[in-house]
Amino acid sequence: MDGPPARSRDALVFSVLDSEIRLAILDALYDRTVVPGPFSGETSYSSIREAVGIDDSGRFNYHLDRLTDEFVIKFGDAYRLTERGREIVRLRRTGTLTEDPRVAPKRIDSSCYLCGERVEVFYANGFVVTRCPSCSGAVDTEIFPTGTLSALPYPPSGVDGIDIETVFERVHQRYMCVYRAMARGFCPTCGHDVHVTLPRRENARGEPDLLRHVTHDGLVVLACTHCGQHRVTNPLSATDDRDPMADYFIDRAVDPGWDRLATALSWDVDRRADGMVFETDDAVRFVVDEELDVTRES
Ligand SMILES: [Zn+2]
Ligand SMILES: [Zn+2]
Repeated sequence: MDGPPARSRDALVFSVLDSEIRLAILDALYDRTVVPGPFSGETSYSSIREAVGIDDSGRFNYHLDRLTDEFVIKFGDAYRLTERGREIVRLRRTGTLTEDPRVAPKRIDSSCYLCGERVEVFYANGFVVTRCPSCSGAVDTEIFPTGTLSALPYPPSGVDGIDIETVFERVHQRYMCVYRAMARGFCPTCGHDVHVTLPRRENARGEPDLLRHVTHDGLVVLACTHCGQHRVTNPLSATDDRDPMADYFIDRAVDPGWDRLATALSWDVDRRADGMVFETDDAVRFVVDEELDVTRES
């Protein structure tokens, strides 16, 4: 009979973090060496020990040793965090691992791209959800309520003490940056290649599989080939940092973020052999091909 499988390097690294004292050491080091700037400094053994509040030096040294090399580096008498150590502290401070706040729906001063009604925004289960109270929305899944227009993962820290209008602005600004990177072919999270899928000409719903929960025809899938992050978004707003879309949006004073997404999603969409065709309210036509190259036709 085989014995238990050997612990992976990942499991060993996580096991090092399984200690309140070690997490407190990382925090103490972070506060003394990193905040507020990105360049790491060093701090002394006594300053960390005092911050963590452990009198027993043997016990404190044991925990500091466990962190050393992977998360903490020693330089002479001083200590600093590795980038890995800083990443752990930052991840904890987003609240993503442990917190689950809720923000109740609130009507805000932005409009539904389908029917023009004012939208409402709420936060639950780690998502900022923008929803129309008057129409069926663009997302069809039991996870989100009827009327959902966009649902974006966002860390709990982003809603803690921040009003929901600001959250709404920021989350769409943030994803603008994510979509732009992915539309240029790389994943901003892991740095690997991104694969673009336009829905097929016929029967767009259900093809490809990742679009099965959306009811809007003007969406594409951007999927990372390594970490699996995938985003469903509009190809014109995802390429709003280059022409012809940059020129079009700037010309008409449509701001980056929700406004550009909602504007592009309000346009008529059709399909041709060479790609998706959008027609704007002022009769400009944009064609998007499989490479997300956009051509202005009129
Ligand atoms: Zn609506
Ligand atoms: Zn990735």
